[in-house]
Amino acid sequence: MADVLWAPWRMTYILAEKPTNCIFCTKPQEQRDAENLLLWRGHTAFVMMNRYPYNNGHLMIVPQAHVSSLTDLDPATRAELGELTMHCEQALRQTMRPEGLNIGINLGAAAGAGIAEHLHIHIVPRWNGDTNYMTVVSAIRVIPQHIDETYALLRPYFEALQPQPPPAA
Ligand SMILES: [Zn+2]
Repeated sequence: MADVLWAPWRMTYILAEKPTNCIFCTKPQEQRDAENLLLWRGHTAFVMMNRYPYNNGHLMIVPQAHVSSLTDLDPATRAELGELTMHCEQALRQTMRPEGLNIGINLGAAAGAGIAEHLHIHIVPRWNGDTNYMTVVSAIRVIPQHIDETYALLRPYFEALQPQPPPAA
C-alpha cells in the first residue's frame, strides 16, 4: 500500500534506536498527548499521528490491548476501531482534502509491521502526484516541521467529537 511512497525521512526511524517497551502501551499513559501526537482517546482504542509518516497526515488507529492479531480483540474493540477509522477519514477529508486514502493493517513483520506485537490500522492521505513531488531534500526539511502543524489542524475535529457511552459489557 503506502510503502510505494518515497519517504526518505523514514530513515531517521529506521536508523533510530528502537525503544524496548511498546510505544502503543506507554505513550497513552504519559498524559502528554500533544507531544506524543495522540489525537483522541476512545474507550478501547486511540488515534495517534505517525511521527515517521509515509505522507503528511499519516494517522494510526490503535487498540489499547497489546495484541498482534485481530482475533485476539474483543468485538467492542473491533467496533471502535472501525468507528475511529471513519472519524480519521472524516478528519483528514475536512482538513487536508486528500484525493485518496490508503487504509490498512500490516500483520506481522513479514508484512511490513514496524511494531508487529501491537497491531494498528494505518490511514494515509494521498494526493495525485504525491509519489513524485517529494524530493529527498524537501521531504527531510519540510515533513518533520509539518507534524505539529498537522496535529493542530486535526485536533479540533477530534475535540468536537462527543464522548460516546462505554460499550455495553
Ligand atoms: Zn503494546
